[in-house]
Amino acid sequence: MLNGDVLVLNRSWIAVNITTVKRAMVLLFQGHACVVHPKDYTLYDFNSWCELSQQREQFCKGRYIVTPSIKILLPDVILLTVYNGFVFREVRLCRKNIFERDRCQCQYCGKVLPKHELTIDHVIPRSRGGEDTWENLVLACLSCNLRKGNLTPDEAQMSLLRKPIAPKWLPKLGIRVRKEQLSTWQKFVDFAYWHTEISE
Ligand SMILES: [Zn+2]
Repeated sequence: MLNGDVLVLNRSWIAVNITTVKRAMVLLFQGHACVVHPKDYTLYDFNSWCELSQQREQFCKGRYIVTPSIKILLPDVILLTVYNGFVFREVRLCRKNIFERDRCQCQYCGKVLPKHELTIDHVIPRSRGGEDTWENLVLACLSCNLRKGNLTPDEAQMSLLRKPIAPKWLPKLGIRVRKEQLSTWQKFVDFAYWHTEISE
């Protein structure tokens, strides 16, 4: 139960990570995080969360950690109150995550296509020193890829829909959301996508 998943929000309420209940409880106890109430999003520090946990009627269906002296509700979502209390996980650079970031859309012509009709294009071609980085890899449809060939976007006179960046959000596919967590987490995860899109 201590290895269960807890969604971590940063101080701007953006979903930044998933951690274990155990780690979340440590952050809470150290004062590095608050618990976000699943219903009204009120914030609780360790002491007030313990108090709330004693009010049984609050969460008859809640999951608890039971110690000899106290029982504490397991948090679903926590919010960091400090910047240095957590090491952020970087989004792994892999095929699956590039498809996820670019949402199966050719980054040159904008067509949304099934996966098998898309390729991963090096913006600066490999043969010209282009590397395998988030900034240099984008999805391209077969015809855009052919047309671009061994050229840079400038040379091919093809522009990118958006500047490729390393995602700061959690790729949707990387989150294993249990059904009972979906409603509590979804709002924050959706917000993370939305926020990334308007700010980049
Ligand atoms: Zn295309």
